[in-house]
Amino acid sequence: MAIIKPVDESTIFVQELHGFASAKQSVYMLRLDKMHPIISGNKWYKLKYNLEDALQQKAKGILTFGGAYSNHLIATAAAANANGISSVAIVRGERNNTKALNTVLTQCKDYGMDLHFVSREEYALKETDSFIEALNNQYPEYYFIPEGGANEAGRKGVASITQFIPKEISHVLLSVGSGTTFIGLRNALSPEINMLGFAPMKGGAYLQDVVRQYVLPQKNNNWSIIDRFHFGGFGKSSTELYAFMQAFKQQFGFDLDQVYTAKMMLGLKELLSENVFPMNAKILCIHTGGLTGN
Ligand SMILES: *Cc1c(COP(=O)(O)O)cnc(C)c1O
Repeated sequence: MAIIKPVDESTIFVQELHGFASAKQSVYMLRLDKMHPIISGNKWYKLKYNLEDALQQKAKGILTFGGAYSNHLIATAAAANANGISSVAIVRGERNNTKALNTVLTQCKDYGMDLHFVSREEYALKETDSFIEALNNQYPEYYFIPEGGANEAGRKGVASITQFIPKEISHVLLSVGSGTTFIGLRNALSPEINMLGFAPMKGGAYLQDVVRQYVLPQKNNNWSIIDRFHFGGFGKSSTELYAFMQAFKQQFGFDLDQVYTAKMMLGLKELLSENVFPMNAKILCIHTGGLTGN
């Protein structure tokens, strides 16, 4: 059964960011943000084989997990909707009934996603057998996708992103959340390409262990996770970051998202000033989308 793509991959392109680095180095942006107004660049790729599996198994629907600002939840809702399959989100945190739903959750609902709120304490138990069993009883024959699309199908799906990466690129940079996209790309790209993952949260060094756990032995080379550009922590911003986003838009004509890609690009600017890249480096940054969060 063929899945219906809710995204338009023909809109994806590589944009050179003239003047972002010195004349001897080139910086490019892979505009995955272009393919859909609200499905984040990398999210579709993590979902596509999951969706295929769910349809093949004739699942009643898709059930997944995420926080109230999760780009993965919107992407899942939109992809399930496009394929005529229902979706359920287990949302972290009690619903505050005195407040309207935020934009992300409103869009999820508009795509027909059923929102099931659980306390943070309960959410922390989401991978335990008893919690899964209870959900299985409540949503029988649903196909479960872990938070962030972080499973084998997700890691396999992001390998498709390599088709947009030009051969001459020496460095690939991306922002890291669950690590799924980073791992899938590391495993799919030549080990000669240097990969840098930017952690947008405090204490992001744990992501090194996550990557190590899934990276193929022959690809366990030439990669690192940089965790010093979190600007206060996950979802936090700073006046410096905000000013950078404004200036970036002025110069290059498109938005960065404040949770992930803006931190990566400001981090890159700092790394360029520290001269950590070799002469003639051709650096490709991946715009993973997430602009609804702004
Ligand atoms: C989800 C997301 C990421 C992180 O992707 P992972 O595969 O979870 O590491 C990066 N950027 C944006 C905009 C995202 O929405």
